[in-house]
Parts: sequence; C-alpha cells; structure tokens
Amino acid sequence: MLMCRDVLAMGSDYIDDALTPRERRSLRLHLLMCRHCRRYVRSLRLVAATAGQLPLPAPEARVLEILSVIPPTE
Ligand SMILES: [Zn+2]
Repeated sequence: MLMCRDVLAMGSDYIDDALTPRERRSLRLHLLMCRHCRRYVRSLRLVAATAGQLPLPAPEARVLEILSVIPPTE
C-alpha cells in the first residue's frame, strides 16, 4: 500500500504516464482513498497544463517590445 509520501514522489511520473502498470494501479488505489493526494495530483495536472501553454523562452524582440511600453521609473 502506498503512503502519501510515495504519491508525492511519483506524482509527476503519474501525470506524465511514466509509471509501470503496477505502480499506476497502486497509485490509483491510493487516490481512491485519499482526497489530499487527489487534490495534489489535480494541482500537478493543472500546473503541467498551464506550463505547457507558456511560450518560453520569449523571443528577444518580444521582450524588447514589452519593455518599450513599460513607463520608466522615477
Ligand atoms: Zn495520500
């Protein structure tokens, strides 16, 4: 039986689909019983989805364009 600390360690691999079928089953079983880890995995998915939408690094021209519209500080 997995402990919450195991879910913390395996969470990224879980959402990246990088666990073995056995590890995945164990983790899912834990998630069925532990709302704290369900919440943790949901937040991991959200972060991964959000980070995937960020165009990093920004092209230099875009950075200069943004800097040009920021008023100078006094
Ligand atoms: Zn847990």
